[in-house]
Amino acid sequence: MRLRLLPSSFPGSSSEASPSSLPAQPLTSFVVEGRGAGPLAIDAGSVGLFGEPAEMGQIRGLVLTHAHIDHVASLPMWVEGMLSLDRAPVRVHASGGAIHALRAHLFSGPLFPDFEALREADGRPLMELVPFPEGEPFELAGFDLRAFPVAHPVPTHGLLVDDGQGAILFGADSGPCDRLWEAAAEAPRLRAVVLEASFPERMQAIADGSGHLTPATLAAELERVPEGVRVLLAHLKPAYRGEIIAELSRRVGDAVEFLEPGAWVDLGQ
Ligand SMILES: [Zn+2]
Ligand SMILES: [Zn+2]
Repeated sequence: MRLRLLPSSFPGSSSEASPSSLPAQPLTSFVVEGRGAGPLAIDAGSVGLFGEPAEMGQIRGLVLTHAHIDHVASLPMWVEGMLSLDRAPVRVHASGGAIHALRAHLFSGPLFPDFEALREADGRPLMELVPFPEGEPFELAGFDLRAFPVAHPVPTHGLLVDDGQGAILFGADSGPCDRLWEAAAEAPRLRAVVLEASFPERMQAIADGSGHLTPATLAAELERVPEGVRVLLAHLKPAYRGEIIAELSRRVGDAVEFLEPGAWVDLGQ
């Protein structure tokens, strides 16, 4: 199994001005590949900005953790890329709550057309927003998935992604969350958990109020990681990432790995 965080910033800005060697990652999209499974995209922050339509078309399934804009910003472009490859209806999997937000605020006319209502000449709708079941397993792109609610102010789901040999747990955007660790405890093949660290500790009140982690609350969550499971970090707010990385190195040392945008992380067969 392997995964990568897709890039979402452009090279070319002065490296001296950067607060960190880690490129900014303002948007969130992961791609997962497994044994006979995938590529599966988790979130659509930047997947629709990634290469030509033929490359986007290699994605066999797309599932959203929630509808916040940093996770769906490029969703219309990805759907258009797939439509150019005659893939209608393009299916986007998400919770009922996230689908409600997408229909009300994104694919509703003022920001982008209603692709569920538009049809190809042969009657196929351009897009289908497909609700996933909560708590029940479902299949997507050859993976077994399970979605569970996490601690974020809008309907948001963590995802357990299993290829039959190994599993990755995506924590999505979330503050401290018991459900995440219950899901981890029920996943004997778990290889890695993907967590967030959005704000530095001086912004703890904002992190708590917006359903995010700082290095302090992340460190407490790390106590609950099952033995032998790797912890991969993403979703560092770009403006604070230098501070967040420095705080984490003091608090937890090398207990976490920062996902380098674009780089594959190999989790073994
Ligand atoms: Zn969010
Ligand atoms: Zn986010």
